[in-house]
Amino acid sequence: MEVRAVELITTPLHTSVGPFSVAQPLPTHALRYADPFLLLHHAGPHTFPPGSEGAKIEAHPHRGFEPVTFVFQGSVLHRDSLGNQGVIGAGEVQWITSGSGIVHEEGPTPQMARDGGTVELIQLWVNLPAQRKMMRPAYQELRTDAIPSVQSAGGAVTLHVVSGELHGVRGPAITQSTVITAMGTMQAGGRGVVDVPPVPTVVLYVLSGRVRVNHTHVVEGQRLVMFGTTGTGFHVDVEESGSMLLLAGEPLNEPMVQYGPFVMNTEEEIREAFRDVARGAFGTL
Ligand code: MN
Repeated sequence: MEVRAVELITTPLHTSVGPFSVAQPLPTHALRYADPFLLLHHAGPHTFPPGSEGAKIEAHPHRGFEPVTFVFQGSVLHRDSLGNQGVIGAGEVQWITSGSGIVHEEGPTPQMARDGGTVELIQLWVNLPAQRKMMRPAYQELRTDAIPSVQSAGGAVTLHVVSGELHGVRGPAITQSTVITAMGTMQAGGRGVVDVPPVPTVVLYVLSGRVRVNHTHVVEGQRLVMFGTTGTGFHVDVEESGSMLLLAGEPLNEPMVQYGPFVMNTEEEIREAFRDVARGAFGTL
């Protein structure tokens, strides 16, 4: 095995999305784009005391990319202009292909706010290839029983494979380019190798716990490890149990223009997205 070298370990920015404070390890000044991964928001863990007011991110549009939500704790509610409505629980994933346009709202379930509970999730934006940006929007809800798991790194990490293939196990999500994603749980004291396919982009995000990667500490406050473009697996040495997200993919290598909730290839396509929203072409809830 040719070890995949650690290229960069970064500290997230902190921002807010609607009522939620989130860590933003991508993009940052140090890492603008991990093609095809555009943005990573880690919300929570946020604990609602019993009797909390429900809070949600009000209806908003998306075009040209895929917002993917990985729920690690608690549950979230979703409603969109395709007519989908549902609850995504811990260990489950919602994979939205916004394509030509979708409008949705998202937030913790009202029942969770009322009864109290903890929510922790990641929202990842995956770019779409130029020729698929205006595809018909699509929606996938991946339940825990549909997401296979596999032990890696000598049992140090359990990977729940959402898309693509890792350690011989294939995830259920339909993707529009080569995109490999897995939610992982790390066991303290475990060590070994996590194998990744020979694609150029590989990113590890540590939500919680402490780990050494190729003998380099991911220290407190740092969370995102960007690997070099060659090699296969990397070594992990788990010092404190926790959870992680593993991302790998083939770069699109296309021009990218992002403005707010739209990710296109040109400025003109962004202006067109605003015009289309204004004339109601994205639909309504
Ligand atoms: Mn959204």
